[in-house]
Amino acid sequence: MRIVFIGPPGSGKGTQAKRLKDRLGIPHISSGDMLREAVARGTELGKKAEAYMNQGALVPDDLVIDLILERIRQPDAQSGFILDGFPRTLAQAEALTAALERTGLPIERVIHFNVPDEEIIARSTARRIDPETGRIYNLVFDPPPPEVRRRLVQRSDDDEPTVRKRLAKYHAETEPILDYYAGITDVRTISGVGTLEQVQQRLLAALNSNAGSGV
Ligand code: AMP
Repeated sequence: MRIVFIGPPGSGKGTQAKRLKDRLGIPHISSGDMLREAVARGTELGKKAEAYMNQGALVPDDLVIDLILERIRQPDAQSGFILDGFPRTLAQAEALTAALERTGLPIERVIHFNVPDEEIIARSTARRIDPETGRIYNLVFDPPPPEVRRRLVQRSDDDEPTVRKRLAKYHAETEPILDYYAGITDVRTISGVGTLEQVQQRLLAALNSNAGSGV
């Protein structure tokens, strides 16, 4: 199944995608993770993207579009994929549609994670990452064990002013994509508020139910 996750930064898309990929046997393709890896490796793309990312701005469309279209051409993505964090602008969505049209394998479902802004700010500013395992904790909602706590780091774009900027970008640039997709595919909105298990149940229900049945 070819699936797109759309939701504000910190709405739990990545966490749910990591759980879902093994269940469905398809890759989780996160534009944010791929860009962070490019920055860490110091590639040309990473050098170009870094300043935008640190400011909470969007990386220019052409750079991200090339990166993702190249990724979905890989063999492991031929039976489906979960796109997380891409597309984030209408231009990206249109470029993806055009590329998939050439293969005859369109996006089958868009999942919209709905979470209020104030909850996003509370969650994101408490998010911490274990640099050794990549595991994501939340100091409030999913606290780490004491022995891990000391080594946790905060993402450089998870401070409150930057989170507010990323949210404003989401409302201005990414939310309008939902209307675009409603015209061409099956869009389901689920609440991203609750425990990981509760959100996962809503997600599975939204993926399993047939087109047109609504959620
Ligand atoms: P994320 O991990 O999805 O929150 O992405 C982290 C940062 O990477 C964003 O704040 C942007 O600067 C950049 N980024 C990720 N995906 C995209 C995209 N589809 N378009 C533009 N910038 C992106």
